[in-house]
Amino acid sequence: MEKAREAKKLFQKCYNFTRADEVKAAGIYPYFNPIEESEGPVVDMNGKRIIMAGSNNYLGLTSHPKVKEAAINAINKYGTSCSGSRYLTGTIDLHNELEAKLAKFVGKEAALLYSTGYQAGQGVIAPLMGRHDKIISDKDNHASIQTANMLAKGTYGTDILRYHHNDMEDLERKLNTIKDIDGGKFIVTDGVFSGFGDIPDLPSIVKLANEHGAQTLVDDAHAFGVIGEGGRGTASEFGLTDEVDLIICTFSKTLASLGGFVAGEERVINYLKHHSPALIFSASPTPASVASALAALDILQEQPELVKKLNFNAEYVRRGLKDMGYDIYPSRTAIVSAILSSDVKGFQLWKGLFEAGVFVNVFVPPAAPPGMAMMRNSFMASHEVEHLDIILDTYKKIGKQIGLI
Ligand code: PMP
Repeated sequence: MEKAREAKKLFQKCYNFTRADEVKAAGIYPYFNPIEESEGPVVDMNGKRIIMAGSNNYLGLTSHPKVKEAAINAINKYGTSCSGSRYLTGTIDLHNELEAKLAKFVGKEAALLYSTGYQAGQGVIAPLMGRHDKIISDKDNHASIQTANMLAKGTYGTDILRYHHNDMEDLERKLNTIKDIDGGKFIVTDGVFSGFGDIPDLPSIVKLANEHGAQTLVDDAHAFGVIGEGGRGTASEFGLTDEVDLIICTFSKTLASLGGFVAGEERVINYLKHHSPALIFSASPTPASVASALAALDILQEQPELVKKLNFNAEYVRRGLKDMGYDIYPSRTAIVSAILSSDVKGFQLWKGLFEAGVFVNVFVPPAAPPGMAMMRNSFMASHEVEHLDIILDTYKKIGKQIGLI
């Protein structure tokens, strides 16, 4: 066995990777915990009722009766899978209906669905690039965008200019270095950054894009259903829907499903339909996924008060944790991140919260900046104040116990 392993050079890194086992042995491993049943704000885990403060189920619609019913009806009508790419046999009428409704909702001419938000990032950015084009990308953009950038670089030789996080002077400096190029310029940013929940300075990004002849893309995964008019996202939040060229998004958060989409000019969407490998060579979102996203979109439009409740809930906890003395990253979205001084403190706090019945996400390097850990809390419209008070009380108790506050 040892000998056979020694011969497998490629896998040495896997055999030598022991960090996760060490954390597991210490009883503080916070990942891959199976949920046995879920109502949204409350779940069963390890046979215990747990308050969920780490999900992206922002409007709490994954357990909404209408959303579940739509998924079940779609399975009854179309079966469990489309078994193919949109391009060939994988398009059902629900795909077209959802594309039309999403485009209208976000205020763009057309939309195109992908099977995940991650696929949308790769599937949109790379195929639009060429050898003479440049991507100018926020350093903290989501991993799907970083992957898209590498794909563009590897496939087409596209240069990637990464600017400091939400630093408009650095963005301008980067744009100035490519003032006179022949190719296109593509500024790419998250609409809400997934770790800290902060919002980019979109008015300055759009202004610089106009001055430098660049096109723009915003990834609204954490903005859709959270900010903007009736939850229409970051461009809407700033009144810049017409100025932002492309919006990409996921169904896995507000839309209570699995999938993603891009919205923009019809001619650009049409080009992507015929040039995007992530679309052409991958099976389309399942009937149940599309039907549940359609139902969730209907509910979002019928009940915009859910967006207000979500924001109230997040702000309630943000203020509560700040008042207790936690170092809370400034944001005004559904993500409330507390910064801790070490990964060990992060794991200890996570374990204390979990044992007391509260689940949050703990991020350690490389997912958090070096020398830090981050408790990433995220909220739902379906949390009640009683849930939030339990979360706050537990943070207070455990934070005091381990000397954080
Ligand atoms: N973009 C951002 C900003 C995200 O946070 C995520 C998911 N965490 C994605 C894209 C990927 O979405 P999906 O889960 O649908 O693949």
